[in-house]
Amino acid sequence: MTAKKKLKVATTSLAGCFGCHMSFLDIDERLFTLLDHIEFDRSPLTDIKEVSPGTDIGIIEGGLCNAENVHVLREFRQNCTTLIAIGACAINGGLPAQRNHLPLTAILEEVYHTGHGLANGMIPNDPELPLPLNKVHPIHEVVQIDYFIPGCPPSADAIWKVLTDLLAGKEPTLGHGLMHYD
Ligand code: SF4
Repeated sequence: MTAKKKLKVATTSLAGCFGCHMSFLDIDERLFTLLDHIEFDRSPLTDIKEVSPGTDIGIIEGGLCNAENVHVLREFRQNCTTLIAIGACAINGGLPAQRNHLPLTAILEEVYHTGHGLANGMIPNDPELPLPLNKVHPIHEVVQIDYFIPGCPPSADAIWKVLTDLLAGKEPTLGHGLMHYD
């Protein structure tokens, strides 16, 4: 009997804090069960640098705050059959989107140039650095998203439920107690 093919799962953190990934790892020993059914592709948990074509599930934490975020998000959409927005930042920009109340130039000036305690401050301008976007955006504004798991972060149980539903070939649902926005 041939072993059932494992689903390929890629994950990334865009303008996120890695808290959603930590919550994912909070499934604790269920991770071993999960690894019987999935293998990780590009992810902060692996050393794979690009999403493999034909990846089954992409999980995106964080909104879009710079050009590299947009590039990575498009790479995920292009290569993943199912894309999941995980956490408040990916869904509506989250707390980082509070910067949208201020002009980007004012923020950069304050943080790098005129703020207290800076010696010869200057706004970084090396071309290696990704250009910041004027505003922080949720990811659905750039690519189509198949499922959303709310929360900051979503609970490990919510993440587990969505993944196990998908593995079972079911439409994912989050019942009472698994759906929250804080
Ligand atoms: S939703 Fe919350 S936990 Fe997740 S990346 Fe954003 S700030 Fe961090």
